[in-house]
Amino acid sequence: MSAAKKILAVVAHCDDEALGCGGTLARHAEEGDEVHVVFLADGVGSRGGFNAVEHDRREQAAGRALAALGVKHWQSLGLRDNALDSYPLLEIIQPLEAFLRTFPAEVIYTHHGGDLNIDHQLTHRAVLTACRPIPGQSVRNIFCFEVLSSTEWGGSAAVPFRPNHFVDISKQWPRKLAALEAYSLEMRNFPHARSLSAVEALAALRGSNVGITHAEAFMLERSVW
Ligand SMILES: [Zn+2]
Repeated sequence: MSAAKKILAVVAHCDDEALGCGGTLARHAEEGDEVHVVFLADGVGSRGGFNAVEHDRREQAAGRALAALGVKHWQSLGLRDNALDSYPLLEIIQPLEAFLRTFPAEVIYTHHGGDLNIDHQLTHRAVLTACRPIPGQSVRNIFCFEVLSSTEWGGSAAVPFRPNHFVDISKQWPRKLAALEAYSLEMRNFPHARSLSAVEALAALRGSNVGITHAEAFMLERSVW
């Protein structure tokens, strides 16, 4: 068995990790890698001010979702939801850089830069800056995932999501489903894009792109080997 790798998912909101790369994180965890998730936003800030009950509910959902995925380590930077553009970019980058000094990840999973959601766009930007390829940089691979109801709604001017890296999550699909069920209050009924049926249809579509039953798809942003 190869040595354990340090794997980090940097996502804007609680539920993006499950939607975008939950099966992949579960597979890394099963294979003995050290997996950590960083949430930039607290998930509740822009919906009528800080609400402690709502905040706790989201945190508990994240805890259940990550347990389902086998991810033991996570933290939130506590920035305001749907308001990352109200911060100077440096205030997002610096805590990420500080985190990477304590956890020198080799592989990063994060948002696609062409998403409709502004927090997703800025997360992508912050990751690219925090992980810029200077001497001594630990990050060897950056993969961008798709999040339903944001990536496919990015608009005609956005960089299209054209995946070139596929992860077979056929065995991990039940764990991804359990994580999404933990976030049931964020999910909608089909035919909404953010429904369990749509997520499973996407996993089947991405799987069928490469001849397997369930896959998560990524765009390789950078690879150094
Ligand atoms: Zn999000």
